Amino acid sequence: MHELIKKLFNGQVLKKEELKAILEGYTPDIAKQLAQQASQIRKKWYGDAVYVRGLIEFTNYCKNDCYYCGIRKSNCHATRYRLRKEDILDCCDKGYEIGFRTFVLQGGEDSYWKDERLCEVISAIKCKYPQCAITLSVGERSKQSYQRLFDAGADRYLLRHETANEKHYSLLHPKNLDLEHRKQCLYALKEIGYQVGCGFMVGSPHQSVDTIAEDLCFLQEFQPHMVGIGPFIPHKDTPFAKEKAGTLEMTLYLLSIVRLLLPKVLLPATTALGTIHEKGREKGILAGANVMMPNLSPENVRKNYLLYDNKISTGEEAAENLKLLKAKMTSIGCMVAIHRGDSLLMK
Ligand code: SAM
Repeated sequence: MHELIKKLFNGQVLKKEELKAILEGYTPDIAKQLAQQASQIRKKWYGDAVYVRGLIEFTNYCKNDCYYCGIRKSNCHATRYRLRKEDILDCCDKGYEIGFRTFVLQGGEDSYWKDERLCEVISAIKCKYPQCAITLSVGERSKQSYQRLFDAGADRYLLRHETANEKHYSLLHPKNLDLEHRKQCLYALKEIGYQVGCGFMVGSPHQSVDTIAEDLCFLQEFQPHMVGIGPFIPHKDTPFAKEKAGTLEMTLYLLSIVRLLLPKVLLPATTALGTIHEKGREKGILAGANVMMPNLSPENVRKNYLLYDNKISTGEEAAENLKLLKAKMTSIGCMVAIHRGDSLLMK
């Protein structure tokens, strides 16, 4: 284990079996060592800065039926909503005033949001706030569509690969969705010029050290600008309602490993991490994460964008409480940065 940790600290590429051994060798002590080193690396590249993005959950309609997700199309208990262009712009106005310089538009795969409509929203935001970055997270689309959205002004795209193991992918998704296509989308986004984020849930049903090691190999191969990692949390109206949630410990361990494998990566401490533990997001930063995505969606729809049970929405993860978040970051030796927070790999 000592040799493997040395390799990890030296920034070497690790093989699947080596990554598996690091995962299997978890102890609280080793996790602490990795977190300390990951924090050092975060500081080396980002100093004390924690980047913030205003998250706008603009539609919870989805044509997909992912077994883990609360907004899957078969969930007839979900109260569906779709923000209008004006609502989204209102969110940006509010966000800009508070201090956000990146807006993340996230939603289910909603056919209403054809290229033309989405491009209109993107152009309107860019026209009003040319100095701000726009991140999209609206799932799988054609390369042509990704190109149009990019040409309209989108800068970044989040598309978690979910798992890099084909069999595991098929146990999390219905037959019409496949890993190959998801990966094709990721490569297309990168080719177009987006800053691209992939990622996966920690503790998803049927996940194993084998599949996680494959996820980490995929990260080394794909070299994303951003990596979204958060615990799986069951949702009561999904086929995985009775499954166990991912743990805080394993999520933090993985955040540290990802920071060490990809030193410059943009790595969010996710809302899901803040949901499984009151101090989850602070702990995430201390384990190597450097991004937070407070919720900028209108308050009346927040309770309807429920990917999993008990999602937090009133504390420092709410955009209007940026002051509180700033204070919390100061208390752990960090500072919320007021700028776009682009990937260092793009410079
Ligand atoms: N539709 C877009 C897509 O497919 O990328 C974006 C929205 S999707 C709901 C965003 C992410 O939420 C997914 O990539 C998934 O990893 C995460 N997610 C969904 N259900 C979850 C759950 N039960 N627990 C934790 N994360 C979940």
